[in-house]
Amino acid sequence: MERTLCIIKPDAVRKNVIGEIIAMLTGGGFTVLGLKLIQLSGQDAERFYEVHKERPFYGGLVEFMSGGPVVVVALAKENAVADYRKLIGATDPAEAEEGTVRKRFASSKGENAVHGSDSVENGKNEIAFFFAERELVGA
Ligand code: UDP
Ligand code: MG
Repeated sequence: MERTLCIIKPDAVRKNVIGEIIAMLTGGGFTVLGLKLIQLSGQDAERFYEVHKERPFYGGLVEFMSGGPVVVVALAKENAVADYRKLIGATDPAEAEEGTVRKRFASSKGENAVHGSDSVENGKNEIAFFFAERELVGA
C-alpha cells in the first residue's frame, strides 16, 4: 500500500478543525497508520522544508510551522500520494477546488491548513522523518 504524510498545520489546529480534516481523510478512503500532536522546533521545520531553503518564503514558512502545535498523520491507500493531493487541493486556497481541504480551511497560500507529500519517495521519507516504523499500526 502506498504511503503519504499529512501535517495538519498550526493555522488549522488553531481553528479547531483537526477532527474535520481527519474525517475528510478517512472519508476519502485513507487508512491512518500513525498520528500525533507535536510542536516542531525551528530546527525541525528547517530540516523538513530544506528543499525550499533558497525560496523567498522559507524563513516565514519555518517560523509559521514551528509557531504552534501540528498533527502529523501517516496515511496509506492505493495511489495515496496523488489521491491525497487531489483531496487537499492547490497550494493557494484561491486556486483550490470546491470541497478540498484547503478550499474549506486554508487562510492563504502560506497558512494553508495541511502539508502533502509530492512523490511516492518523499511520502516514505517524510513519514520516516516523524515516525519510527514500530509506531505505525496495521501497515
Ligand atoms: N508556501 C508559501 N508561499 C509560496 C509557496 C509556498 O508560503 O509562495 C508555503 C506553503 O505553506 C506551502 C509550503 O510553503 O504549503 C510548501 O510549498 P509547496 O510549493 O511545496 O506547496 P505544497 O506542496 O504544500 O502544495
Ligand atoms: Mg510541496
